[in-house]
Amino acid sequence: MHKYVIMGVQGCGKGTQAALLVNALDLVHIGVGDIFRWHIKNHTKLGAQVKRIVASGNLVGDEIVERIVHGRLEEHDWNFGFILDGFPRSESQARFFLESYDIDAVIHIQVPDEVVRERVLSRRLCSDCGLDYNLISHRPAVEDVCDVCSGALITRPDDHPDALAGRLNDYHTKNKPVLSLFQRKELVLDIDGTLAPKALHKEIISQLGATNYHSSTPVQ
Ligand code: ZN
Repeated sequence: MHKYVIMGVQGCGKGTQAALLVNALDLVHIGVGDIFRWHIKNHTKLGAQVKRIVASGNLVGDEIVERIVHGRLEEHDWNFGFILDGFPRSESQARFFLESYDIDAVIHIQVPDEVVRERVLSRRLCSDCGLDYNLISHRPAVEDVCDVCSGALITRPDDHPDALAGRLNDYHTKNKPVLSLFQRKELVLDIDGTLAPKALHKEIISQLGATNYHSSTPVQ
């Protein structure tokens, strides 16, 4: 049984790495953002609540986040373990969480802010078919034109320097106390997030393997 938390700033490749780990280790991915999106899409009461909060420009409060994460973990469909993404968000949540669940490791993907800035600000989106581009890693054949449908490529409203600077600042402020609590418990694996996705995955598996010497199920 493997119980992991994955942390890292937006644009660090966390989503890709979580998906690769789910595949490699048969884990269940528990993403707070995904759960919110599911509730909104299915018009649940929680979805309506979250939609209202987000529309008013606020962040969904700790209490709601805590409730949905605990509810999700209670489902016990994670025979081989889970990887939790987007939680905990505060030191008190982290402390409470550690009392209920025996976490094996916190995978901390580190990417310098300059690199995040470069990655995020080079993202483009087709205004017609919604396909994602990246001027560094996935360039269109013709500048500003979608390869598939010839639609115009645009920048997401969120991907402007000021908005990104705000998000980075917010991330560091909120995550520092959570990370230092996990560090005091010697759970944190610092992973170099500037590696290419495949190399990054290998590095995570190798570092997890080193921490799982006590576990009966070896990491492949
Ligand atoms: Zn397109």
